[in-house]
Amino acid sequence: MKNSRRHFLQKLTGTALAMTVIPHLGLAKASGIPDEQPYNGPILRVAIMGLGSYGSRVAEAMQACKKAKLVGVISGTPSKIKDWQAKYSIPEKNCYNYENFDKIKDNPDIDAVYVITPNALHHDQTIRVAKAGKHVICEKPMALNAKEGQEMIDACNNANVKLLVGYRMHFEPHTLEVIRMREAGDFGKVRFFQGLCGFRIGDPGQWRLNKELAGGGSLMDIGIYAVNGARYMVGEEPIWVTAQETKTDTGKFKPGVDETIQFQFGFPGGALASCLSTYNMNHLDKFFLNGDKGFAEMQPSTGYGPIKGRTHKGELNQPVVVHQTVQMEEMSDIILNGKQPLVPVDGQEGLRDLKILDAIYQAVKSGKKIDL
Ligand code: NDP
Repeated sequence: MKNSRRHFLQKLTGTALAMTVIPHLGLAKASGIPDEQPYNGPILRVAIMGLGSYGSRVAEAMQACKKAKLVGVISGTPSKIKDWQAKYSIPEKNCYNYENFDKIKDNPDIDAVYVITPNALHHDQTIRVAKAGKHVICEKPMALNAKEGQEMIDACNNANVKLLVGYRMHFEPHTLEVIRMREAGDFGKVRFFQGLCGFRIGDPGQWRLNKELAGGGSLMDIGIYAVNGARYMVGEEPIWVTAQETKTDTGKFKPGVDETIQFQFGFPGGALASCLSTYNMNHLDKFFLNGDKGFAEMQPSTGYGPIKGRTHKGELNQPVVVHQTVQMEEMSDIILNGKQPLVPVDGQEGLRDLKILDAIYQAVKSGKKIDL
């Protein structure tokens, strides 16, 4: 029974299909997975800013949420606003553009704005949303550097609104199981983490390859998963960083836009991390954690799923979830009910990653070991 269920789950690729089927398998009890119980609690009413590829994915996933609902949009593209209004029944009064969205402060029907725009815009947009008195969920990387990140945290504190970062893996069941096992001592003393994150990037004209909008290259976009993953898998904060950059295509990857960076961390307990971030290789989505008593291996480790993995005790067999659905259910609880997630997703968590990203770039530039 267990094996056939696993086999069945592994065959699920369509996320909507997964959401439809899993409750009937009796797996809905696992953290945050929408089930068929009626829900009468508060609902987080969300406006999405930036109706691009990831914004569209979040909107789709939110349709299965009970505790969060898409009620508004902020976009620079009028035709997308019309399409989203029709698809998600969004009233005209909840539609804004980048010039007028400060007026959202006068809109009592929106609780939070989810900022899903290019990285360089997160800082100013988050501060404007905070000043409008709305909670902010901001995509990763939270900002271009730690200074900007701190300013965003300060603005949200001053406005008495919450700031969360879209770290969807912090709610993913296989990931949480590995963290639980580590905390239970199943791996013994943790000695080593390896994070391999990358893909071959296409269109050279896209914002991800524009330093002004991306703030860097692969490290800001995909390498951040290894930075963040090293921290939640090892369960400590790194105390030093070394890093090396390799560039094979200087036409596509202009100055300030990294193609490939390898970086290493040292942790206070003695563990080491060795990571690769690249825009030049496919099939790179793998975490490996090694301790005195055992190991965990995840591949894929941070893609949209299904996440797969095994430990020295056997295959990980957690429920397959739509990451963004579970994330928004949990973030509703965090914002509206003050729930504390197992792995933080607040502005401070985003800032910790930004400090490390700053140090990695500094290490590349100087060729030196950077203490954190
Ligand atoms: P897209 O390019 O697909 O979408 C970005 C959207 O931002 C655009 O469609 C546009 O929406 C808006 N926008 C506003 N100003 C600009 C501008 N100057 N140039 C381009 N777009 C602009 O990017 P993604 O959706 O892939 O990424 C957006 C953010 O989400 C990034 O920070 C990225 O790192 C993050 N992300 C996170 C993922 C995760 O798993 N957590 C996965 C993918 C991305 P409009 O026309 O409505 O104004």
